[in-house]
Amino acid sequence: MFRADLHCHSTFSDGTLTPIELLDLAKKQELSGLSITDHDTFDAYAVAVPAAKERGILLGTGIEFSCTHKAMSVHILGYDYLLDHAEIREFCQKHKKRRVERNRQILANLAKIGFLIREEELDKFGEKEKTVGRPHIAQLMVEKGYVPSIKDAFQSFLGEGKKCYAPGESFSVTDTIALIHRAKGKAFLAHPHMLEGAKRIRDLLSLPFDGIECHYAKFPPEKEKKWLDLAKEKKLLISGGSDYHGAMKDYITLGCSWVNEETFHRIFQNLP
Ligand code: AMP
Ligand code: ZN
Ligand code: FE
Ligand code: FE
Repeated sequence: MFRADLHCHSTFSDGTLTPIELLDLAKKQELSGLSITDHDTFDAYAVAVPAAKERGILLGTGIEFSCTHKAMSVHILGYDYLLDHAEIREFCQKHKKRRVERNRQILANLAKIGFLIREEELDKFGEKEKTVGRPHIAQLMVEKGYVPSIKDAFQSFLGEGKKCYAPGESFSVTDTIALIHRAKGKAFLAHPHMLEGAKRIRDLLSLPFDGIECHYAKFPPEKEKKWLDLAKEKKLLISGGSDYHGAMKDYITLGCSWVNEETFHRIFQNLP
């Protein structure tokens, strides 16, 4: 049976498997298709494109951008965009800068309550080439014994609105969607259940999104129905994936959420 997981992260952002390891795992899980949606980078594709071909896996281009709409944090999945598009490349660079500054702010907030992490300690995750964010900071907090788990780090300190949280520079949802469209891609609203309040979601969906992520992680079917109905009503495409992060979120397996062959080909018309 054709199954494609359209949401996962590699070591180029906050996943713990390299792109090759992800593809090997995809093969082992008998997935036919995959999209690697690293936060703010498509660098995984340089190695992933030839490796996917070797393994007979259909690989569609993907990325996950962190944006803001009316003070709420929104993740946008970009699919089927052109990999060598200059504007996407520049936009990723801007996001990288935002993260350096934001991580600095978060570390300063942590220092105020006696949790000491130096900026250089984050280098082990990315040497400034990869996307480094809160999960990496959370991992260091665990290693240093400041918190028992990554989950606790988010719950008490790093989660949105918690005492050491910093939003960083904001990028608009409208601009991000327009940019993805200029790169011939499609923009999907990621994990809509994380945005509380139906009115806010409807407000967001008045923007020119192409689709909604309806199948997500370990969602039970009754929870997915709400999003499938909304996609139908708004005439939007549907997508789905596990949001696999490897050991960073050890309760999620690659392929636990997926889309079928028809849905895959509706989204991806320009495989790299
Ligand atoms: P950032 O990109 O730095 O804003 O961090 C966001 C990422 O942190 C998400 O994509 C998740 O991978 C992870 N994350 C968010 N909330 C939690 C949580 N409560 N527990 C574990 N990981 C989380
Ligand atoms: Zn993540
Ligand atoms: Fe996300
Ligand atoms: Fe994600």
